[in-house]
Amino acid sequence: MKAFSLDSEALAARRERARQRASEREGPRLASDFAAGKPIDDDDLATLLLSQDVPTADLLAIARANRPPGAPKLQTFSPLYISNECDGECLMCGMRRVNSELERVTASEAATDEQLDILYRRGLRGVALLTGEYRYGPMRDEMLKRTTAAARSALERNFSHVLINIGSLEVEEYDVFFGGVSPLADAARLTMCTFQETYDPVVYERFMGSVRENPRSDFVRRLENFDRAADAGFRSANPGLLLGLNRDLAYELLALSAHVRHLLARDMLVYISLPRLRKASGAAYRVGVSDDDLARVVALLSVAFPQAKVVISTRETPEMQRLLVPVIGVLTAGSPGVAPYTDAGARFELEKSQFEVTDQRSIEVILAEHLAAGATIDGYEPAAASFANPA
Ligand code: SF4
Repeated sequence: MKAFSLDSEALAARRERARQRASEREGPRLASDFAAGKPIDDDDLATLLLSQDVPTADLLAIARANRPPGAPKLQTFSPLYISNECDGECLMCGMRRVNSELERVTASEAATDEQLDILYRRGLRGVALLTGEYRYGPMRDEMLKRTTAAARSALERNFSHVLINIGSLEVEEYDVFFGGVSPLADAARLTMCTFQETYDPVVYERFMGSVRENPRSDFVRRLENFDRAADAGFRSANPGLLLGLNRDLAYELLALSAHVRHLLARDMLVYISLPRLRKASGAAYRVGVSDDDLARVVALLSVAFPQAKVVISTRETPEMQRLLVPVIGVLTAGSPGVAPYTDAGARFELEKSQFEVTDQRSIEVILAEHLAAGATIDGYEPAAASFANPA
């Protein structure tokens, strides 16, 4: 299959049409169709997003009614940063290469394994392995080697879901990865994560830069990463937006939906991440989108793609988690610090982390709240003590 591509001018024209339709008050009729399960396309989704006469509470109610009956069925995984070093220059990120305020740390292989043991003891069965992205050369090779070793360790420890979030890889780098995790590599247990952050090439360049030696600045290379991942053997993909980079949410929704459809057509399982911009070390504080806009995007994607899983993290407050849990597929909890976990908690130092986490309660407390409310959570087997006494 041809790699995913975007025509940003055509998308912008479709967003304009959606704006026009919303101003002509097509939203309520579309919401009725949406509630009745009639097929609606991506242009309808963008129109609903922009329709101020369709309350967000109505969209959430439609999304709730569309979920399987009974209590929410969630998955979880926790992030494990192996390093906060990075050659990227993304303006919104604490890990960017030129941020002298960040204390740089890379965990040893032994320390990474110890972190996996801690997370496993604490009941986690899903883990996302994260690093920065690196220029071609020894550091890039070394960090790929480290991540491959960590993935292999996680699979050996029987983690049921291992997510790889280390930037976009080349064909030969995928070969290195699969060579390193084989024969444990069970495609059903592995997910490749690369959030485009924004599908607008102009906004992308504004934040991610245009230095050719910095692979992260290459918009198209990142856009095509899941196609290389699929060709290499990944069966699961996790695209995402960083909400707040581009104010034009309808454009982003149209582009993300097209990307999700492409990945589903490739027979991939799809996770959709929607993190909001948060405070980061040394970066000018930028506010992400409003609670209301986040809830609208989540509700629309939840209904449009019932076979995909929307991911919300503890970047969100406990109140937002409670609002969204009935319509999402994954709630992730943990720290963006490097090797931050202890047997009872985690470190959350902004001066060593990619960004600020809003909800710093322990993983056990966060997940126990939803278990107590009746949810089931795949990827978490709470230790008896932590479930009985989460505090
Ligand atoms: S967003 Fe990713 S690539 Fe960019 S500076 Fe941060 S860690 Fe590096």
